[in-house]
Amino acid sequence: MNLPLDPQTVKGFLSPDEGAMLAHYAKAGLSLGEVIEIGAWCGRSTLYLATVAAKANRLLFSVDHHRGSEENQPGWEWFDDEVWDDEAKAIDTLPQFRKNIRAANLEQTVIAMVGPSAAIGLVWQTPLGMLLLDGGHTMQTALADYRAWAGHLVQGGLLAIHDVFPDPKDGGRPPFEVCKMAENSGLFTRVDEVGSLVVLQRL
Ligand code: MG
Repeated sequence: MNLPLDPQTVKGFLSPDEGAMLAHYAKAGLSLGEVIEIGAWCGRSTLYLATVAAKANRLLFSVDHHRGSEENQPGWEWFDDEVWDDEAKAIDTLPQFRKNIRAANLEQTVIAMVGPSAAIGLVWQTPLGMLLLDGGHTMQTALADYRAWAGHLVQGGLLAIHDVFPDPKDGGRPPFEVCKMAENSGLFTRVDEVGSLVVLQRL
């Protein structure tokens, strides 16, 4: 992809292969409804998705409280003091996110919704063509995100889940469990996967 800002220069956890797959399915998703991501961190996945949206003259919705997930907190494995707000005594990824969206010239495309995803999902009413679940990794958070958002997908809509690790040695299990639950529900079928990104389709 030819971007003003290489998404891989943005802090984040998405591989180039995973980013390319998101971009590929975002195009299909936009033909079916809106595209939204749950969990943005500093905007790496946002750049992949929003570039496709911008080309199609569409919007990309991005939900995150920007306070970091459990595994990003001080003392945990993925803590990064460059996104620590000392005044708030909390993580704040919003300044970096905003800087990256501006640098990529995507401010007219990306609509950031800053707050708890489950609460936003409850009042959201617009049909979705694609949903990326890439939020917190506790079972409670992963499940709440799935329950709040998956029902908004239209038939044929795409559900992408990041950090799906079948082997617990590779990472936490909740995204894997949510993925399995979606497949076992009979409402979704797996259409693609690369790295820890799985793409399901709403039947
Ligand atoms: Mg992730």
